[in-house]
Order: sequence, then C-alpha cells, then structure tokens
Amino acid sequence: MSPHVSKLAQLIGASTVVSMRRRADALASAGVKIIDFGVGEPDFDVPEPIKEAAIKAIRDNQSHYVDPRGLPELRELIAHHETRQHSRLVNPNQIVVTPGTLGALSLVTRAVLNQGDEVLVIEPRWGPYRSLVTLTGATPVGVPMRTQAGRFEVDAERLAASVTKRTKAIILNTPWNPTGRVLSLTELTAVAELAKHHDLWIIADEVYSNMVFVGAEHISIASLGDDIAERTVITTSLSKSFAMTGWRLGYCVAPPELATVLGRINHYSTRCASSIAQHAAVTALSDGALFVNEMCQEYQRRRDVITVGLNQIAGVVCPIPEGTFYAFPQIPEDWGDSEEVANYLLEESGVIVTPGSAYGADSCNHLRLSFATSMAAIEDGLIRLQNALPMHQNKG
Ligand code: PLP
Repeated sequence: MSPHVSKLAQLIGASTVVSMRRRADALASAGVKIIDFGVGEPDFDVPEPIKEAAIKAIRDNQSHYVDPRGLPELRELIAHHETRQHSRLVNPNQIVVTPGTLGALSLVTRAVLNQGDEVLVIEPRWGPYRSLVTLTGATPVGVPMRTQAGRFEVDAERLAASVTKRTKAIILNTPWNPTGRVLSLTELTAVAELAKHHDLWIIADEVYSNMVFVGAEHISIASLGDDIAERTVITTSLSKSFAMTGWRLGYCVAPPELATVLGRINHYSTRCASSIAQHAAVTALSDGALFVNEMCQEYQRRRDVITVGLNQIAGVVCPIPEGTFYAFPQIPEDWGDSEEVANYLLEESGVIVTPGSAYGADSCNHLRLSFATSMAAIEDGLIRLQNALPMHQNKG
C-alpha cells in the first residue's frame, strides 16, 4: 500500500464537468448521440498563421528553456496589448508568462497566501478557485451574490460582511463564468474600495476579456487607479481568445515587485511556459485581432439563439449573457436540485449541461450551458431540452 497523500491534497474533489463528460462518453459508446453544452472551450480551430509560427519555432530549434518570466519579445507585446486594451500603462516587468490562466492562478495563490489566511471567492464561481486556495493552506470563503430575475450581481454589503482579520485576498472573474455577466463599473468600484479599505490583494481572472457582446464593456479592475493596480494581479491566457486551450499559454500582470516573486516561483514549479507556444503567442498577439472579433461575433449569434430557446421553456428564466460563452438559466425550485436535473437531461435526452450547484450552493437552481458548440448542435440541443423539460411533467 502506498503512503498517504498530503492532508491538503485530500481536500481536493473531482471536477463536475469532467465527471459529466465521462458519463456522457459511456453513453456515446453505447450509441447515444450526445449534445455537449458542458464543455468550456472554444470549438474553433487555431488560426493558420499561429500554427505556422509554432511549426517555424520547432524548425528553428526554439526548443530550449526560456526566461522563467517569459520571452522578452512576448512580454513586450503583452504589455502593449494590456496597455491598449485597458487604457492603463503596463510595463514588461509586470508580466510573467505561465502555462495558462491556471498556471498563473497557481503562482499567485502561492505567492500571496499564508496558511490560515482567508480568501473571499465571489459565488457562483468557477470550480478550481476553491481548490487553488485550499492547496496553499488558506481557506476559501464563498460569498454568494444577490440575484434579480435570475441575474447575479455583486453584493457589496455581503462581501464587506464576510471580511475578517484573516482575509487576505478576493478572487473575482469578469467576464464571469458561469453567469455570463460582465461586471459594471459600480460593482468593480465596490470591490476595489473594499480591497483598499481592508488592505486585500485582488486576484482578477480576466480570461474571457475578449468575449464581450455588443452593449457590454469589459473593464479591468486594475484600471480604476494606481492604488488599485498596486494590489491587483490579473490572470489571463490565450486559451479562449485564440482557441488555444491545449497550448497552455497564459500570463499574470502584477505590480513589479510581485512579478519578480511570481517569476521565481514559476522557475521552481514549471521552469517556463512552453517555448513553442510562446513563439506562437507572439504571432497571435501581433496579427490575431480579426480572428478574435469574428469568433466573438459568432458567439453572439449563438448566444441570441440559445437565450431565446431557453426562455421558451416554461419555468426557465435565462438572463442574456453579456460576455463569455455561457448561459446560466434559472430553473424552478420544484424541479429539484440542479444535479438531479442535469443527470435527468443526460440520461433522457443525451444533453450535457453543468449543474449550477458545481459553482456554489446558492446557484443550485441554475444550469450552465456552454454555447462554444456549433449552431446545429445548439438547435438540436434546444429541441431536446424543450421536449424533456419541465422534467416533473414528463415524469408524471
Ligand atoms: N478561468 C476561468 C474563469 C475559466 O472558465 C477557465 C477555463 O474554463 C480558466 C480560467 C482556465 O483557463 P486556462 O486554459 O487559461 O488555464
């Protein structure tokens, strides 16, 4: 028998999205045609020039370790990109290139948290935030947001009431998975003021910053002032914007002193992000804007179709997503817990949706549907959902 794994590792559970997918795979191998609204990654191919840049990097033997903070030319480009996108001056010495946003979050949590610290996590939240905090020995404190007609909003009073002497940081995500919200200036200002007042770090996950639909505007919390930027770390990647999820290429934007520490931790954890992916990222950030815009327009078309279709199901209330590629409809309480509904939909109609309970207890009457799937799959999936729901009627 092997020795025990660490106490912290024992606290980490399995991902709901992954386990739904495994069950769906079993059904698919038994001949069921699956519609996957669970997957959280673009269904687009990586643009050819980015692939060519990676192939060229391999041919040119760019296959060695690089600076743990990232290739200098890539950090320059990222700094330029962040400065332009968020109208605030970002310098290359603030950038650390990482294996994806997850790599960035893993560095940041280890760099700023001590055992016993508490971290406020706005809920509903993307699954890994809690585990990332737990693995440092700190405690994640879920703070549910308020809802109005199924739409989640930052609840500044609830956040303030959750601060204790141990609170060290707050994690926020805008555009916000799973809610599809893009946080407003008022909401961000409330978080920023709270962080300033209690001397907290702000960990701002902006991985969907390019997936914003007409009428909404992504605001980076760090752009609210120097006194906010000096306590903020942005984590993001090329995963969603350039459909490069498997390439594992992300970065942090941090105050320079913290960036130095992040670079050191990167050195001792992964050594550096893939050199080939970094060379490809130079091309993505130099020439990829058109691709990002086209992809975003297509998501918007799909969003319109899925939102209308979901709202046609009696009892379902689906606020219009302002960004990301997720719809997060509310379902009636008498349908049962979202996990029960998600299981029923998979078994009865071969549709994968993610139960809202995976994102926090207060969203157990919600389902998350990713529209990073083809229009044909969305239309087929909607017909199946409209036939299968409301589930209690069909059961009766
Ligand atoms: N942050 C959020 C909110 C996400 O939804 C995801 C992926 O689903 C990630 C981070 C992970 O991104 P990456 O592929 O850059 O690690």
